[in-house]
Amino acid sequence: MVERWLSAAESLYGRYIWGRYDIVFLPPSFPIVAMENPCLTFIISSILESDDFLIIDVIHEIAHSWFGNAVTNATWEEMWLSEGLATYAQRRITTETYGAAFTCLETAFRLDALHRQMKLLGEDNPVSKLQVKLEPGVNPSNMMNLFTYEKGYCFVYYLSQLCGDPKHFDSFLRAYIEKYKFTSVVAQDLLDSFLNFFPELKEQSVDNKAGLEFERWLNATGPPLAEPDLSQGSSLIRPVETLFKLWTTEPLDAVAAASSVDITKWRPFQTVLFLDRLLDGSPLPPEVVKKLSECYSSQLDTMNAEIRIRWLQIVVRNDYYPDFYKVRHFLEYQMSRMYTIPLYEDICTGTLKSFALEVFYQTQNQLHPNLRKTIQQILTQGLNPLTTTDTTAVATDTPTVVLEDKPSETANSAISLRDVNVSA
Ligand SMILES: [Zn+2]
Repeated sequence: MVERWLSAAESLYGRYIWGRYDIVFLPPSFPIVAMENPCLTFIISSILESDDFLIIDVIHEIAHSWFGNAVTNATWEEMWLSEGLATYAQRRITTETYGAAFTCLETAFRLDALHRQMKLLGEDNPVSKLQVKLEPGVNPSNMMNLFTYEKGYCFVYYLSQLCGDPKHFDSFLRAYIEKYKFTSVVAQDLLDSFLNFFPELKEQSVDNKAGLEFERWLNATGPPLAEPDLSQGSSLIRPVETLFKLWTTEPLDAVAAASSVDITKWRPFQTVLFLDRLLDGSPLPPEVVKKLSECYSSQLDTMNAEIRIRWLQIVVRNDYYPDFYKVRHFLEYQMSRMYTIPLYEDICTGTLKSFALEVFYQTQNQLHPNLRKTIQQILTQGLNPLTTTDTTAVATDTPTVVLEDKPSETANSAISLRDVNVSA
């Protein structure tokens, strides 16, 4: 499998220059999801059971072998260069190996998460810029968020569209890697190379197209100026949208909704997208949650942790007490911060702090000290609205632990890493 992904990456972006490629799976207490060290990708073992997520996380780290490790961003303010390009390359690799529909599905739920984060932060929040300004004393980890990944991806995708054919853009990226490998670059290097590689685009001044200026992409706050066309994902995305509509149209016809599709036949990302939409719609009418539980709860119990945690967040956000014992079981079994933090935050946002305290006191001796400290903060301080977590806001490679120590230093300008819970 990994060999196949590496071969696909090599055919797109040139020879793998690091010799060996190994993966080490780290214990659930490892504070980040994944990290792209040259020759050796670190991945948290909690993701092993989560099918599609494992595929995406490994391919993302493989993509960093070219974008991030071979050519590196010169400053922390240009993190989007590594993450945006790696996310783009990751999606080119999954398009080659798993098809456009799968890639569009994955992109759809990540862009949903981006827009969710945008709502939390506000459109004028400076951390939504691609080129974030790093104030003295601020930990760069604090500035990483879904914009670094997904707004960065959208800009790279936009550039690929400008040249008309993703294969031409692949050629450009191969030349870019060849020119800059083993060096550090800034955005202007990428953009100058791009315009020099496509002189006809330079002549058309595509960098100054009204409303889509390169400068605006880099320095404007808010959502991406353009987003990819995901219509090639409709065979996978449309059934999700149809089912969501059946469950949320009043009056509810639970029999029709329940019998319309067998979600155990779905790809995990389809179930994730469905649950994310329900989470976004929460609180839902109590009758809907009750019927959803009757219909899906036992099926979801057998699925992976990324899916189960989303259902449990729905349970918590809707105060659906009959399934609370499942929340307790999950927290007694899962000791990974990527799952425990969002769930504790959701529980403490509601009226169930005593339930959270009880579970915490039962499990605290099994928790990593950093995680224990973070949960204690959640339990004692309550939540800053800026740091409301969302599992779907999953980034990768994000060193969550660093932020936890000084949550106040950037509380007004940055999203807590606790919030991002992603991979690198
Ligand atoms: Zn990354």
